[in-house]
Amino acid sequence: MGRSGNSGSLGTGSDARRLKQRLESLAAAGVTDLPRSKVKTVATQAHHRDPVPVPLAADRTPRSPLTHDELQRRSGVLAVLSQEVATCRRCEELACGRTQTVFGAGPVDARICFLGEAPGADEDASGQPFVGRAGELLTKIIESCTLTRNQVYILNVLKCRPPQNRPPLPAEVANCRGYFHKQLEIVDPDYICCLGTTAAQALLESTETIGKLRKRWFTHNKAQVICTYHPSYLLRNPSAKRDVWEDMKMLMSQLGVQLP
Ligand code: SF4
Repeated sequence: MGRSGNSGSLGTGSDARRLKQRLESLAAAGVTDLPRSKVKTVATQAHHRDPVPVPLAADRTPRSPLTHDELQRRSGVLAVLSQEVATCRRCEELACGRTQTVFGAGPVDARICFLGEAPGADEDASGQPFVGRAGELLTKIIESCTLTRNQVYILNVLKCRPPQNRPPLPAEVANCRGYFHKQLEIVDPDYICCLGTTAAQALLESTETIGKLRKRWFTHNKAQVICTYHPSYLLRNPSAKRDVWEDMKMLMSQLGVQLP
């Protein structure tokens, strides 16, 4: 039996289960409506830009709440994009091995986005990003920043789990680039926190290590970008938690929150 689970058929109980998971995943990603039409493919819309460090700037004036119509519009566009992702087979190896795609989770008007690498086994099974041990640690980091998970948008560079959780291949990052770019464009955050080397290099189109990219501000469209270690790295190297805490202090101070 195929494992992709994205055919749209409702012929079996497992199909229905997968559809239920998919709908729950969409709801978590801020999608409340499912348009019938599809948008044009976006996975090839990447534009090269060199990572340019920017000096620390004062936080922008807090945004006004979005109107109901704008929230609905963003939700609709995300839904169409999520449908496109769910049937994507650009990376044949990943598409054959996945249980389902993992699109993202969080409010469509989040001010902060956390960008990770790729789904692992727990994420592949649930359809949600960052739900395993690394996810629990990310939740603690977010809560230590005086935030909650449902105040931030969480997504990965890749939407499909690589076999044995190997690092994404450059071709796979290139294939999926248009999707995470489009998600970030729709959510339009003020801040993006890249978690780990893959996310940082993919967003900033850099070859520098995460160690070199930390403690500097970059920009992506209107958002200010900060880079830190991936929670999975922290599970293997607990001493690096102190570095991540320093990065979170740097991020939150921009929002006017002074962490101890
Ligand atoms: S990782 Fe991205 S580009 Fe590759 S098959 Fe999955 S959704 Fe498509």
